[in-house]
Amino acid sequence: MRSSQYLLSTLKETPSDAEIVSHQLMLRAGMIRKVAAGLYTWTPSGLRVLRKVEKVVREEMEAINALEILMPMVQPADLWQESGRWDDYGPELLRLKDRNQRDFLLGPTHEEIISELVRKEISSYKQLPLTLFQIQTKFRDEIRPRFGVMRAREFLMKDAYSFHLSQESLQQAYDQMYQAYCRIFERLGLDYRPVIADTGSIGGHSSHEFHVLASSGEDAIAFSDGSDYAANVEMAEALPPTGERAKASMEMQRHEVKGDDLAALLQPLSVETQQAVKCYIAEASDDIDAEYVLLVVRADHELNTIKAEKHPAVASPLVLVDSHKAHGIHPAFLGPVNFDGAVLVDHSAAHLADFACGSSENGVWLTGVNWDRDASITATVDIRNVVEGDPSPCGNGQLKIARGIEVGHIFQLGKKYSDAMKVGVLSETGKHETLTMGCYGIGVSRIVAAAIEQHHDERGIKWPNNLAPFQVVLIPMNMHKSARVQETAEKLYQSLLDAGVDVLFDDRKERPGVMFTDMELIGIPHQVVIGERNLDDGMVEYQARKDGNKIKLSIDDVVSHLQ
Ligand code: ATP
Ligand code: MG
Ligand code: MG
Ligand code: MG
Repeated sequence: MRSSQYLLSTLKETPSDAEIVSHQLMLRAGMIRKVAAGLYTWTPSGLRVLRKVEKVVREEMEAINALEILMPMVQPADLWQESGRWDDYGPELLRLKDRNQRDFLLGPTHEEIISELVRKEISSYKQLPLTLFQIQTKFRDEIRPRFGVMRAREFLMKDAYSFHLSQESLQQAYDQMYQAYCRIFERLGLDYRPVIADTGSIGGHSSHEFHVLASSGEDAIAFSDGSDYAANVEMAEALPPTGERAKASMEMQRHEVKGDDLAALLQPLSVETQQAVKCYIAEASDDIDAEYVLLVVRADHELNTIKAEKHPAVASPLVLVDSHKAHGIHPAFLGPVNFDGAVLVDHSAAHLADFACGSSENGVWLTGVNWDRDASITATVDIRNVVEGDPSPCGNGQLKIARGIEVGHIFQLGKKYSDAMKVGVLSETGKHETLTMGCYGIGVSRIVAAAIEQHHDERGIKWPNNLAPFQVVLIPMNMHKSARVQETAEKLYQSLLDAGVDVLFDDRKERPGVMFTDMELIGIPHQVVIGERNLDDGMVEYQARKDGNKIKLSIDDVVSHLQ
């Protein structure tokens, strides 16, 4: 690309309404232009970067066999009425009517549309599991759009959705997606952290966010300096206060039983529950005479049915938690899930010793230690109130608090949408089975801003290689006065193009100072300066934007050095 045929549109002054550095630099480097609050046009340089993010995201989605689709941004209200979100979503949802007065909305997310697709397209268990994704514009009428594309109203998201017959299959896809996200953020050169997250309005059972660490981040992240434990501090908002939790835990009935006593203890429970408990015990241990502990949580709320899925014989809702196994249910992954009526069974009293339950308006909570998935939270730590230096809830190390920008979020949705929208298939035995779902978002446009927050200096952006709008810029000094400089620059430009290098040739009639300032602001990682003086020795000057180091290169070595 030649600058003379390109749209550079850099600005000298920092726009007064841009508060954070990424917003300032995106405007100054001519990457975006504001149209209205939270609405932006991406200029050629901005769009090049956005496409680079998309490319990495797309490649990593395809690497885990996710299939790309494209759904409409405008969605009919009736699907949202079916899921219940037409009423629940609130003012972030932009609603509109067509010429026939039918209700529509601008999609803030696509669970309803994908559920509609899958319930029509997928009819057999043989077609599962299935993961679909799109990279598409979303609209959320954010109460406070700010920081440019960081919190826009219209923004680009990669959203993926997976469909499964079992929790195990969902967990597998979730873990794969988690790893794919790690690869994406590594390839994009970002300093990031996965953290345990609240499930928010989307609902569901298990959730992680991916945060780019930056002082301008809107979220607070608590992480341990002694383990991998990390959580979004907002995640605990739904947890009841400690006092209430302690009170409720006293209402929990604790029983320790052996062999035959088990039958007596189970007696007051429903037949289905009894069967499920026996079935669990048989599955969990060869030693049927071992000591068992049961915690029976009593409350009047609706029950959660996560584990009942494992026991088709159970008609009544029931939760069985095997506390020492990875498939135990950690409250941190759950959000406000009711555990009312839960029966906890384990072969070791120690495994259950630390459980406590609590109640809030949302229902009853269970919380405990002994989880070997990620980390654990005990009933005495409320992550919202932690300060730097507090012991980590996982038991290892001390907490540090950092600011984070949420660039990705993965959820296990369970059957929230598939129940409401009747998304199911015929199973191997010919029975109708409701599918279990996961959903996985990445803020593609937000990543562009987040990357700048981490990669800049006082002169401008310092793009990581995989994100840069161009890899190399050729800066010929006073080319219009020197035939030799012009000829060398043209030749180098052609050889770099031939070698497949993404190169910008700054062929403007500008003073070198202007060119350097612009190119440093735009943040192109590799600079090659062609000047009369060095040409006497057959050399050009190479400078890396990353560290400002300059070296002389022989003209013949430029291409191989930059490949
Ligand atoms: P936030 O907490 O920042 O409002 P969210 O939790 O509402 O984000 P999700 O529903 O998890 O967002 O959407 C998936 C991803 O989309 C987020 O992780 C984020 O990277 C991106 N995203 C969400 N809202 C915006 C926005 N207003 N502007 C740009 N990107 C956004
Ligand atoms: Mg939001
Ligand atoms: Mg969030
Ligand atoms: Mg989120």
